Amino acid sequence: MRIALLSDIHANLCALDAVAAAVGSVDQVLQLGDVVGYGPEPDATVQRLMDLRAGGVRGNHDAAACGGQEIEWFNPAARRALEWTRRVIAPATLGWLEMLPSRVVEPPFTLVHGSPREPTWEYVTSPDVASASFASLQTRHGLHGHTHVPMAWRLDAGRIEAIDPRGTPLLHLDERPTLLNPGSVGQPRDGDPRAAWALLDTEAGTCTWHRTSYDVAAVQAAIRQAGLPAWLADRLAVGA
Ligand code: ZN
Repeated sequence: MRIALLSDIHANLCALDAVAAAVGSVDQVLQLGDVVGYGPEPDATVQRLMDLRAGGVRGNHDAAACGGQEIEWFNPAARRALEWTRRVIAPATLGWLEMLPSRVVEPPFTLVHGSPREPTWEYVTSPDVASASFASLQTRHGLHGHTHVPMAWRLDAGRIEAIDPRGTPLLHLDERPTLLNPGSVGQPRDGDPRAAWALLDTEAGTCTWHRTSYDVAAVQAAIRQAGLPAWLADRLAVGA
């Protein structure tokens, strides 16, 4: 099976469409949360994921877009974008977001947005958190996003290995547990503005990381047009 891993799309339809074209034909599309928030096209982004029959999980922005108190935990720009999202999204979009589970277990994979320990909010950014994540992982591999930075962690005989796929974008999967983060489609934060995604090939036993260019200026214009904070447009150009 060839499985496309998309995370943190953040209502950036232009980036999603460029990635979908680059992905081509796959057996399954999985999204790892934060479908909405920050970006200007939440309804069309969700519709495109429906068209792709994408499975997946909810992120912290998706949870906040569905209501509840979590919105108070966001920084002012993110919060303004979420308030805007709540105002504009169609009932069908809201319904789709509300149906997303926080965790999906499909052996040998577990899907979460944040970490296997705390599926919606926790960032896997250190060996300590990676270690706790492996302790909570019920399958061999964990698929997650949330940091907006492509990354892999591997548990090798009790030792935590940090693997930066930007050097070698191919990882052979074996019996050693891994946490695989494709990076962000809609708002990369690793200094590379191109959309980030990954491809799992279960027959070959590989995960490969990819980058795809899209029309950043068009999305920036749409963000400004919607009256969303200018910073959300600016950061797309630098991948920060
Ligand atoms: Zn995100």
